[in-house]
Amino acid sequence: MPPTAEEIRAAPKVLLHDHLDGGLRPATVIDLAREIGYGRLPSSDPDEVAAWLARGAHRGHLKYYLDAFQHTIAVMQTREALIRVAAECAEDLAADGVVYAEVRFAPELHVAGGLSLDDVVGAVLEGFRRGSEGRGITVYALLTAMRTAARSLEIAELAVRHRDEGVVGFDLAGAEAGSPPSRHLDAFQYVARENFHTTIHAGEGFGLPSIWEALQWCGAERLGHGVRLADDIHISPDGTVSLGRLASYVRDRRIPLEMCPSSNVQTGAAPSLAEHPIGLLRQLSFRVTVNTDNRLMSAVTLSSELHRLAETFGYGWADIEWLTINAMKSAFAHFDERLNIINTVIKPGFAVARAASDAVVRPRGVSGAAGSGTAGPGGAGR
Ligand SMILES: [Zn+2]
Repeated sequence: MPPTAEEIRAAPKVLLHDHLDGGLRPATVIDLAREIGYGRLPSSDPDEVAAWLARGAHRGHLKYYLDAFQHTIAVMQTREALIRVAAECAEDLAADGVVYAEVRFAPELHVAGGLSLDDVVGAVLEGFRRGSEGRGITVYALLTAMRTAARSLEIAELAVRHRDEGVVGFDLAGAEAGSPPSRHLDAFQYVARENFHTTIHAGEGFGLPSIWEALQWCGAERLGHGVRLADDIHISPDGTVSLGRLASYVRDRRIPLEMCPSSNVQTGAAPSLAEHPIGLLRQLSFRVTVNTDNRLMSAVTLSSELHRLAETFGYGWADIEWLTINAMKSAFAHFDERLNIINTVIKPGFAVARAASDAVVRPRGVSGAAGSGTAGPGGAGR
């Protein structure tokens, strides 16, 4: 029996791909809009605003999906607004049982009110600090450069400049078709020379060439989405699976896939959850991780996303723990910090979650469940 949504919420979870401007509380969007006199919201009712901001998520294309961000970005142009949004982000993730998160944002989108790029980063990090304090969560930042703009080197330098204050990596995002990552080679090479970390949105709206460039030209350590990797996996009528060279490379090198299933269905990158490549990639033991992408626009939490997967693919605790440990292993935090969270938070937390769930399912008590998963797939290999 798959774990319930509430049981999953109580288990310790790890989130690697979540956009700050895609995760605001609807009531906060309304508050901040009122403060600055932003008049383009359709209502002052949080439910209506939430539904309105999520409407692009049902139109099947990334272009429509991205429309809603102009409104959240518009209200995130002051230090106070950024601190508030970042603090609430940390609070909301902690309330969902997330114990480690890397939340990304594009500083260049938050300077319209006169803040400098460094001001923007400082405000967001301050918000993460305030929101995570005493809540059992660690939140770090990833700085995103927009692939359609020309400021990527500047953003890469900004990320490296704030590396000791909570920025753990550099990202590239935005409409993929027509804007290959290799256009930003100087930024990626700079990041590599600084021994810093890169993840790139690739293989979401566009196919294998984008993934290949991200990895082999730009040195991405993780792939944002990577859904289209499935194009390089062939299943013959007798069920034999064969991997192309790129898919093999990704699996062999244990390259983490930051998959965001609901978002992918909404943008048309996958036809349905049941047909989402995550099912196959998990079966084939790719380094799969599960993420939210945009909690507001996609109307998801990490718990709801994992629960939907559990229902769709029959995932049990072993799968959810495996996905969680995959994510923690793939984080950009230092190795000792990752190991510590796996051993002192995730494994004991899942042992408790499993035991509680077994106690409900089998009230007479069947031994052997609690803790058994710690030696399972999550514990083995890289
Ligand atoms: Zn994303």
